[in-house]
Amino acid sequence: MNNNTILVTGANGQLGRTLEHHWGDSGLARNSELILYDMSRLDLTLSHQVEEELNRIKPRTILNTAAYTSVDHAETDRDAAFAINASAVATLAGWAASNDCFVVHISSDFVFDGSKSVPYLPADHASPLSVYGSSKLAGETALQSQLPDRHAIIRTSWLYSEYGKNFVQTMLRLMKEQEELGVVADQVGSPTSTHSLVALLLAILGQGIKPGIYHWTDGASISWYEFAQAIQQEAIDQGLLGRKIPIKPLTTKEYSAPAERPAYSVLDRSKTLNDIGMRATDWQQELRLVIKQVASRAED
Ligand code: NDP
Repeated sequence: MNNNTILVTGANGQLGRTLEHHWGDSGLARNSELILYDMSRLDLTLSHQVEEELNRIKPRTILNTAAYTSVDHAETDRDAAFAINASAVATLAGWAASNDCFVVHISSDFVFDGSKSVPYLPADHASPLSVYGSSKLAGETALQSQLPDRHAIIRTSWLYSEYGKNFVQTMLRLMKEQEELGVVADQVGSPTSTHSLVALLLAILGQGIKPGIYHWTDGASISWYEFAQAIQQEAIDQGLLGRKIPIKPLTTKEYSAPAERPAYSVLDRSKTLNDIGMRATDWQQELRLVIKQVASRAED
């Protein structure tokens, strides 16, 4: 194997698919090999098979995009969430520790409890409210303890893209199907396009991994309700929706989801901008680009 081999887990997820889309055009493709594994090729909960495959491929870097991401289901499916989001990360970290390998891992704003009212710094105390958040924090801890010098943890939030299931896709569907919509207005966070996150991942892979926690978002500080309004307006502007429907602000209590979510989970990305030298993305511009992709896929 090429000793710059990057093994990617969760290749069928929205982040994995976005990475595959951009890989060919990245400068990295010239001297690194990307090997993509979806769950059918590599189930991360089968630790012996994972280790066997890692021994066969001997990647230089593992990029772990796989996760149990159903925040509400995790409340009643704790073992499965921890198996993928924590134990599997420990398996990857353990193998990497004895094989001179780096791990780049994606984590979540849901490791925080939302009690702050200014953006969360990477070093802020994590105190998850949900099973999903706890499982993601356990994954971070496993990586930090087993691979202290060769990991990067990228915390992101409210990920969306033209691929798979996410808030933008759900809103667009509901805005077509329904006459009005209620959306939670008392949870504030930062939407993040998978495309902007992939740009960061490629930069980190290209520069060499400096261990630590990095925060990445597209810089907004808005509620789901405000995000839904922006999605509707952008979709109308780009001809994806033919009419405007009323969007009603809901409280978290009125919406009543199984998992508790932080009321405020904006991540401070300044360390990432400075350390990695990233351009500060703009959330409205990123949304525009993704809606454009959704529109062109709808035409196809
Ligand atoms: P997706 O749910 O789109 O993709 C996750 C992928 O992981 C899926 O393709 C899934 O497979 C795969 N997977 C699940 N279980 C296993 C397993 N046992 N073995 C191997 N693969 C498995 O997630 P995203 O792309 O949205 O998320 C990427 C990362 O970002 C995750 O770490 C997530 O926790 C984090 N994140 C996501 C946010 C979001 O809003 N989505 C917000 C903050 C962080 P299959 O397709 O077969 O189900």
